Amino acid sequence: MRHSPTRIDLFSDTKTRPSDAMKKAMVEAELGDEQADEDPTTLELCEHVADLLGKEKALFLPSGTMCNQIALAIHCRPGDEIIAEETAHIINFEVGGAAVLANAMIRPVKGTNGLFAVDQLEAALRPAFRHAPKSRLVSVEQTSNLGGGSVWPLEQLKAISGFAHNHQLLVHMDGARLMNAVVASGVSAKAYGAQVDTVWIDLSKGLGCPIGGVLAGSAAFIQEAWQWKQRLGGSMRQSGIIAAAGLYAFKHNVTRLEEDHDNAKFLAHRLADIPGLEIDPARVETNIILLRVTSEKMTAHQMADTLAARGIRIGVMTDRAVRLVTHLDVDRRGVTEAGDAIAEVLTGS
Ligand SMILES: *Cc1c(COP(=O)(O)O)cnc(C)c1O
Repeated sequence: MRHSPTRIDLFSDTKTRPSDAMKKAMVEAELGDEQADEDPTTLELCEHVADLLGKEKALFLPSGTMCNQIALAIHCRPGDEIIAEETAHIINFEVGGAAVLANAMIRPVKGTNGLFAVDQLEAALRPAFRHAPKSRLVSVEQTSNLGGGSVWPLEQLKAISGFAHNHQLLVHMDGARLMNAVVASGVSAKAYGAQVDTVWIDLSKGLGCPIGGVLAGSAAFIQEAWQWKQRLGGSMRQSGIIAAAGLYAFKHNVTRLEEDHDNAKFLAHRLADIPGLEIDPARVETNIILLRVTSEKMTAHQMADTLAARGIRIGVMTDRAVRLVTHLDVDRRGVTEAGDAIAEVLTGS
């Protein structure tokens, strides 16, 4: 099938392009050698994020995946076990990195919308037994990606982290979309950050930057993280040129996430009226929509191909499951057109 250029890209919030104003901030950034702690823009970004999350220190890294992998590698000793929800990014999209770099196992918990409860954590905890791996770390995803952008409520997170810490487990937060959770819930990043030992924020998702993630924790943790960053080849030179995009994003692209959430809810309600789709708009808390294609006329792949020919891109998860993500490069007109196109494609009218 002929593919038109993508005009409305709902595949992921990673598809955002830096705006002209962001690029201007990047070009004008003050630069130095990051490896020697001499890049002033990177240092400013790290200070900003550490402060935002209520942590002693932060470290700029090329990607969110590297933030997760470095944290897991520091927290775990070989043979240790990480407890995470079964849909977690660290289980499904990091090429088994926990096994390769941390030499750790991950025990998946079957939660609800990517979240789990204290009794489930308790059930997943290993007994102190000579034959069992050692439960070392609990990892939570804020928001849960494959859970449909669901937000860990502060109280639930407090309960998880309280239980974990009482049992000598550490708690890590994959905060790829933490700022979406902050904007949707009104709970501060600091309040979420206070519940966990380590946490990071992705710059290249809804914040609209081209590259990067920032990992935060105690000063001792970040000192070790620097060694891992160097070891993995993640140390940079004049990284201020990309860190400047992050500083720009924290100033200009956070409160506007509300628009993405509104657009996602708007689109979800539109899709709920279309026969052949199954979607619960009440489950849309942030910028991610999960839906099922129940139509007998087409699969999710066929639906995606037909939409692609119209310049609209969606994310196909399985033959029946679709993910749509709103972000700053898709406005209300875009989601309206996407909703209309999906209706036409499914009902043939
Ligand atoms: C995108 C994502 C990551 C990885 O971030 P990259 O910057 O793409 O490496 C990790 N966790 C979650 C939940 C994500 O959505």
